[in-house]
Amino acid sequence: MKKYQNYINGKWVDAKSGKTFENRNPANWDEVVGIFPKSSKEEVDEAVKAARTAFEKWRLVPAPKRGDILKTVGDIMVRRKEEVAMLMTREMGKVLMETRGDVQEGIDTAYYAASEGRRLFGHTVPSELSNKFNMSIRVPIGVAGIVTPWNFPMAIPTWKIFPALLCGNTVVFKPASDTPATATVLVEILLEAGVPEGVVNIVHGGGSEVGMAIVDHPDVDLVSFTGSTAVGKKISELASKNLKRVSLELGGKNAQIVMDDADLNLALEGVLWGAFGTTGQRCTATSRLILHEKIHDQFVSMLVERTKKLRLGDGLLPPTDVGPCVNEGQRNTDHSYVEIGLKEGAKLVCGGNIATGAGLDKGWFYQPTIFTGVTPNMRIAKEEIFGPVLSVIKIKSLDEAINVLNDTIYGLSSSIYTKNINDAFRAIRDIKAGITYINGPTIGAEAHMPFGGVKQTGNGHREGGWTVFEFFSEWKAVYVDYSGKLQKAQIDT
Ligand code: NAP
Ligand code: MG
Repeated sequence: MKKYQNYINGKWVDAKSGKTFENRNPANWDEVVGIFPKSSKEEVDEAVKAARTAFEKWRLVPAPKRGDILKTVGDIMVRRKEEVAMLMTREMGKVLMETRGDVQEGIDTAYYAASEGRRLFGHTVPSELSNKFNMSIRVPIGVAGIVTPWNFPMAIPTWKIFPALLCGNTVVFKPASDTPATATVLVEILLEAGVPEGVVNIVHGGGSEVGMAIVDHPDVDLVSFTGSTAVGKKISELASKNLKRVSLELGGKNAQIVMDDADLNLALEGVLWGAFGTTGQRCTATSRLILHEKIHDQFVSMLVERTKKLRLGDGLLPPTDVGPCVNEGQRNTDHSYVEIGLKEGAKLVCGGNIATGAGLDKGWFYQPTIFTGVTPNMRIAKEEIFGPVLSVIKIKSLDEAINVLNDTIYGLSSSIYTKNINDAFRAIRDIKAGITYINGPTIGAEAHMPFGGVKQTGNGHREGGWTVFEFFSEWKAVYVDYSGKLQKAQIDT
């Protein structure tokens, strides 16, 4: 079993206290994936100090050169893709096909960020005065604190770290306690590609110790966080004391609408992938299915039949469709919501229990679960469960479907299946979410498109695409007066 370390100021080190924590395979809890340092504020202080010092050199490396390093990062990730995917499956349970996709998203993000090094556009605009030149440029900010969840152990850290580095910032990274091994490999890859000492630091440990210490540190200039809305609110509060720049990507309660004119087979493939892929543990997972009354009964029976055939198991074994929940706590949460749904009067038509059977008794497996007869006011229709539990709501019209879809505190992803182009465009206009798919499931974001949500899913920033480079850089307005005399804006006109 491997013993992992922090990487601080160019050295691999243990926690000063000598304390450690272990990470186990959720498909087989007898298997310890690794032992990790349980760090504290002391390690965060050292990492921030190193990042602060390294910033003064790194900010002066030309952005295209920083991009070249990220290009190499992408190349190394291509080489190590299979190995990392297998480690990730052992660490957090999702099936190999999906962990390969997770690494691929990191590769795409590396190559996209690399190209952005030659394209960190500013604007030049005419001055209102003679012999004066106006331009705006993008400058690095400083030390970036990066705190990430476990469900995309490679992709999400790369969405943050690669643009942060490309823009000239240095990084202190705290990965989720459920996926520290994948995160460590990412740091190894960055070092192999040539990222200098101190530019990237990783500190393992708990959210309330290491995470909070990063957010609260006066020398951390910006914080990028993805995780639950509850923790996001705490981070926002803490960071606001020093008016820090903070990007929050938080929870979701995403819905797929199926209208009566939809291609039902296509919509079925979409909801199976959206609701039960990654065992429902995606921020963009489909957790509500909004069905037109004319196709409701037929679609539910098609869905239940296919859901019952999904094969649960170890994500490393080829026939597996659905892996385990990430840990015991998450499985307990899933089951408690099934009990809540039953008490609320919803009808359980599939699953609803801990999964047992050959190969399942040492893992945190839960049956893919479907409730019908759900009404929008029920807790199972409102609260993020983050497991394989789908709530089906029946509607009579497009207006009602959109109202039900929007009736949530969250606004990350959304989807509608219809062949009616007018209905599709009305949905694009009226759905309140950061992402809308037409005739596709609620999951499937691409690295070069903006990613994020409205309402309590976030605080208005976007990762991915061109938008993330805005978050990780500061605008500076520059005026060059070559008239040789004092010219006064607004006065000498
Ligand atoms: P989480 O419990 O909020 O944890 C996220 C990260 O924050 C982890 O690294 C965690 O550390 C750390 N943390 C916990 N408490 C903290 C605190 N008080 N201060 C600072 N950091 C703290 O979320 P999760 O369970 O890992 O992930 C699931 C959630 O993430 C879901 O709500 C999901 O919707 C959301 N998510 C959102 C997106 C998006 O882009 N919108 C993407 C993926 C996931 P430990 O692991 O050590 O506790
Ligand atoms: Mg684990």
